[in-house]
Amino acid sequence: MSQRVRVVWTPELLDYDFGPGHPMAPLRLDLTIRLARALGLLQHPDVEVVGAEPAADRVLELAHEPEYVAAVRRASSEGIGDPARGLGTEDDPVFPGMHEAAARVVTGSRDAALAVWRGEVAHAVNLTGGMHHAMPGAASGFCVYNDAAVAIRALLAEGAQRVAYVDIDAHHGDGVQAAFWDDPRVLTVSVHESGRTLFPGTGDPVDIGGAGAHGTAVNVALPSHTGDAGWLRAVDAVVPEVLREFRPQFLVSQHGCDAHVEDPIANLDLSLDAGRLASAWLHQLAHEVCDGRWLALGGGGYAVVDVVPRAWTHLLAEATHRPVDPATRVPRSWLDQVVALYGREAPGSMTDGAALRWRPWSAGFDPDEAVDRAVTATRRAVFPALGLDPAVE
Ligand SMILES: [Zn+2]
Ligand SMILES: [Zn+2]
Repeated sequence: MSQRVRVVWTPELLDYDFGPGHPMAPLRLDLTIRLARALGLLQHPDVEVVGAEPAADRVLELAHEPEYVAAVRRASSEGIGDPARGLGTEDDPVFPGMHEAAARVVTGSRDAALAVWRGEVAHAVNLTGGMHHAMPGAASGFCVYNDAAVAIRALLAEGAQRVAYVDIDAHHGDGVQAAFWDDPRVLTVSVHESGRTLFPGTGDPVDIGGAGAHGTAVNVALPSHTGDAGWLRAVDAVVPEVLREFRPQFLVSQHGCDAHVEDPIANLDLSLDAGRLASAWLHQLAHEVCDGRWLALGGGGYAVVDVVPRAWTHLLAEATHRPVDPATRVPRSWLDQVVALYGREAPGSMTDGAALRWRPWSAGFDPDEAVDRAVTATRRAVFPALGLDPAVE
């Protein structure tokens, strides 16, 4: 197997920009790449940094209605919104070049998936991807085109028979789940803050996939303020078992880092360290269940200076087989760039210093704990459809 790892990046990807004041500031990506470079992660001979051209309509139409693609083009070139299709809304305002910018993200994920599938690279990372809320006919939640859904459809077209998608963004991965709701070839797993307290309001444990695909949608809906110990416990109680049972040939993961305690939008209260550990678990699982065929995507993350660059630098480090010791100091050269760009200091360490103490599910569960009730609801709802026992590990 190739040892090379693809990192999708070109500054043109910064054109995905809803404008000043919008939470999804492209500078979060710019700062991440600068930090990864300052740590030397992208300069290794095994790492290929590859850009992307905007995807053709026939590629976008793997996951989107032609009428929607046409509406995005109109919005993009003429500035005309289409609120019924989610375009020109508060979450997804129209901007010039919107179509090209969003279609470029799609190419990044699709080409990366195919490069992994064909064995040209071992893993791939597209931090600009993970647009998991985009629907077949509508933009939603800062997402215009669903790069993850297109990448998975491209893998299926190439002959893949079972693809798993695991989403650890704070929000439910509703667009990807919707794309494959009735498709037994694609397992979608989303660990998120409950729809009762957070956008998009979906992702209940009882949602387990459509007719003919029961058990291929897995939803873990956690209470707000779950924190590291509960979150790691929940991920560990569900994700490895369902992946081992489904036996995918390919893993796509979405690493939105808006579950961090400092994120202004969500409330799961995680540390940087918990996200880093989960990335390592997913990497390990990819090697265990699908010969390492792994595409890691970005996603949400709105603490643009204090969280996103460090969180996704850890993901890049993990995927390129050069994990960064959490005790590492953030390079002064990067901190100086942040001061120059933002006029303020960024955190100086690659850790939040979290202890990461958590209890495995096999040690028993406590029905008085909200997290344990959430995990139990998921296991009861979906494990039998996968042929797994909800009660025991
Ligand atoms: Zn690996
Ligand atoms: Zn999110």
